Amino acid sequence: MHSKKFLTITFLTFFFSLSYFGAFTQVKQPLRIIMFGAHPDDCDMDGGGTAILFSKMGYAVKFVSVTNGDAGHQKQKGVVLAKRRLAEAKEAGRRFGVTYDVLDNHDGLLMPELAVRLQVIRKIREWKADLVFAPRPNDYHPDHRYTGVLVQDASFMVTVPNIVPEAPALKGNPVFVYFQDKFQKPNPFRPDIAIDISQVYDQKVDALDAHVSQVYEWLPWIGHYSEKVPSDTAARKSWLHSFSRVEITPEVRASLVKWYGKEHGEKVTYAEAFEICEYGSQPDDEERKRLFPMLRP
Ligand SMILES: [Zn+2]
Repeated sequence: MHSKKFLTITFLTFFFSLSYFGAFTQVKQPLRIIMFGAHPDDCDMDGGGTAILFSKMGYAVKFVSVTNGDAGHQKQKGVVLAKRRLAEAKEAGRRFGVTYDVLDNHDGLLMPELAVRLQVIRKIREWKADLVFAPRPNDYHPDHRYTGVLVQDASFMVTVPNIVPEAPALKGNPVFVYFQDKFQKPNPFRPDIAIDISQVYDQKVDALDAHVSQVYEWLPWIGHYSEKVPSDTAARKSWLHSFSRVEITPEVRASLVKWYGKEHGEKVTYAEAFEICEYGSQPDDEERKRLFPMLRP
């Protein structure tokens, strides 16, 4: 019975089962995504559509605001404003299908200092992130810029066990990506990845609508366009729908065509684009498709 042939067949069956199981688990391996913004509406605007797509596919997404937003209003401030914005962020998180953390650092006063770097390292490790999003460090707003620096400074340290030893270090370095921006110096944004968010754009606007203090009050006031915001609740959401649309640049269009093919890529009306950071793991195109499974047909 236990002939050599039988043992060989048994071994081969076992081996191929394992290989099949291995391949299966690799495809099914859940992705964990964390996005960092400086303020409790930044991830929402720059990566909200992509976050909805991840969430709809069953992947865990967390937004982290590195400041509490307590300076972002023309009439309110301090604890009152921070509490209002925390409530708005939690409601927006519910509408996006993500969990939302707000760190209690003051808005407008963020510095790329060690204490905040350690907070960022802890958040990435506790979330066991595969993919980390952040602003580029050449944004106009110092809080955005320093959030970019803080995440860059955490990008290698998340793998170093002796730093923040109470939060276990990650075994593999995540992939770090930047949100899109318009800044040209010292180098313009490069859309390595472009995601078609047309199917979820309505849901993105519905979630942005939760940030009443920002999208209908503060941003219009500081941007001198308050008179354009309708007072009626339904009318202002419809205004937000057209106002929030980000223009698709020729570079982003080329990236959409690369990832979705010419026919689909040229028709996309709403998109979010991301640049791969030089720090952290460096994914090839296959790995990029694994990390952004919405790109797989
Ligand atoms: Zn911001």
